[in-house]
Amino acid sequence: MNEVLKEIRLTIKNVGSNQEDPNWQNFVYPLQKSNEKLSRVWSQINHLNSVVNNEKLRLIYNKNLTKVTKYYSELSQNKLIYKKFIKIKSGTCYRALTAPQKKIIADEILGFELGGVALNNNKKIQFKKILSKLSKLSANFEENLLDSVNNFSLLIKNKEKLKGIPNDVLIKAKIDAKNQKKSGWAFSLDFPCYMPVMQYADNRELRKQIYYAYATKASDLSDKDKDNTNNINKILLNKKRLANLLGFSDYASMALTTKMANSSKEVINFLDDLANKAKPFASKDMVDLKNYGHKLKIKDIEAWDIAYLSEKIKEERFNYSEQEVKNYFPDHKVIEGLFKVVESIYGIYIKKEITEVWHKDVKFYKITNKSDKLIGYFYLDLYARKSKRGGAWMDEAISKYKFPNEHTSPVAYLTCNFSEPVHNNVSLLTHDEVITLFHEFGHGLHHLLTEINDYGVSGIQGVEWDAVELPSQFMENFCWEWSVIKNMTEHTKTKKPMPKILFNKLLKSKNFQSGMQTTRQVEFALFDIKLHSDYDPSLKNFLNLLNQVRDQVSVVRPPEWNRFPHSFSHIFAGGYAAGYYSYKWAEVLSADAYSLFEEMGILSDEAGKKFRKEILSMGGSRPAMNSFVKFRGRKPSIDALLRHNGLLS
Ligand SMILES: [Zn+2]
Repeated sequence: MNEVLKEIRLTIKNVGSNQEDPNWQNFVYPLQKSNEKLSRVWSQINHLNSVVNNEKLRLIYNKNLTKVTKYYSELSQNKLIYKKFIKIKSGTCYRALTAPQKKIIADEILGFELGGVALNNNKKIQFKKILSKLSKLSANFEENLLDSVNNFSLLIKNKEKLKGIPNDVLIKAKIDAKNQKKSGWAFSLDFPCYMPVMQYADNRELRKQIYYAYATKASDLSDKDKDNTNNINKILLNKKRLANLLGFSDYASMALTTKMANSSKEVINFLDDLANKAKPFASKDMVDLKNYGHKLKIKDIEAWDIAYLSEKIKEERFNYSEQEVKNYFPDHKVIEGLFKVVESIYGIYIKKEITEVWHKDVKFYKITNKSDKLIGYFYLDLYARKSKRGGAWMDEAISKYKFPNEHTSPVAYLTCNFSEPVHNNVSLLTHDEVITLFHEFGHGLHHLLTEINDYGVSGIQGVEWDAVELPSQFMENFCWEWSVIKNMTEHTKTKKPMPKILFNKLLKSKNFQSGMQTTRQVEFALFDIKLHSDYDPSLKNFLNLLNQVRDQVSVVRPPEWNRFPHSFSHIFAGGYAAGYYSYKWAEVLSADAYSLFEEMGILSDEAGKKFRKEILSMGGSRPAMNSFVKFRGRKPSIDALLRHNGLLS
């Protein structure tokens, strides 16, 4: 890192002081080259810190994070460089640039302006301080969360209490207890342990205990020195200050300059509209739960009953359990099925390769086209383990570029947190996990199938935040197609594919509680956009705002002690501040894009070719709206999403 940073600073000094008129060759290339190198090196450290975290690495990460943040902050305020970009834009060479190159210049100029290049020296110093504070606060937010999860373990000795919990979860819990040199079953807050307990444990008290731990992690109600309350208040305050310094009234106004949506008002209207359409359906879902609760003598439904009752209703109404479905989704079969889909619609080939990896469970693959020409590589790291950040994500290891005498193919990291294999080295995935894998793979393909060679707008680079989920959510649709599922399933014992009858039930249940799910997503999105627009962070009462949002949109009221914001990493540690709405926004785009496949044939290579050409390969080289219109022949419409979600009355 020290070497790379030294080299990069030298390059910047050289191109900045060059007296010639700046052009692509003498100015943009050298800059891109150094920045590519830094991203590549830093991406590896950042990645390892997320997937094999330990105290030593964390220390190194934090030390270098400070250096990297300092570098980017310096660069973003380098007036010489900024002015040279402006000069290129107004110069004679500009006309000869390609469209992607022009997009890079526009993105750079906007980036510099958002980076505070126009600030006076005094304000510049403040700006730098805030940025470095923010990155530390976010890292600490994430650490508190990880520690809070790692520090929790609930030991149960009485097997009676564990009724209903699936066997594979119990086996894992027993192993975990053994590892702690205890007898009994140890339950953690890792999602593959938490969720089945909430869904299946008949013991209401146990559900409440685990729910409480999960809903209060990293808060004032859990371990005091892992409390994220101050981090949240400080993050919000500093984000507002940052926006104010640049002349924006709030953080959302600043963040939306790089998005498809034009203002927080437009976003709030979009979410309100969706909430209004979903709420009647959500209320109906709640009535269902209440009725079923009465049957089980649960009078007042609490947050820890919802997943449990939902699963019971599902079992009764659709007559299958998630566990039954899971038996048909061994991970290797799912991966094979996923590859078949993308191979047939995009005309690509995926092959396993051997390389050095950071954990024995990690696999490495190569993508080629029909004539065996290399397209890219990706790592697949599927299972949850201690010291690995929760959730699922795709990250860029290497981005595609072509510099004079130098070019490279893209490489991606695909990370999930599925339960680790227990029987015969097979991990059984829930249907939701299958969807997650398809989703992340969609991000991966966006990064890998790009045909843009210009560093900065190839793959997902340069794509507007609220359009970034289009290719990923698009992929989820295939998990609801019989023609895909029948080739992607194999029962652990009988080795037979999923029966059509079971698939039909699965399909029927697809929109089960979609009203409640939509209002939940809208709740998070509204909380986020309001938190970063009209909320005053100096009041330090973000829980009040959350309550107001819940009053407006939710039909399920979590308990007062629920501390959801304290683990809302997306907006406090990820890049989704004032951008959480983008999931729903992009769902409109992805549902509408998929409707062309519904028209032309699900595995239509013609539709696939078009999607690859207009959306995936273009990356961030032009506005997402243009790409969408080129692909679909018109602007996006919300109808396909409402239809897919069963939210049309
Ligand atoms: Zn995503």
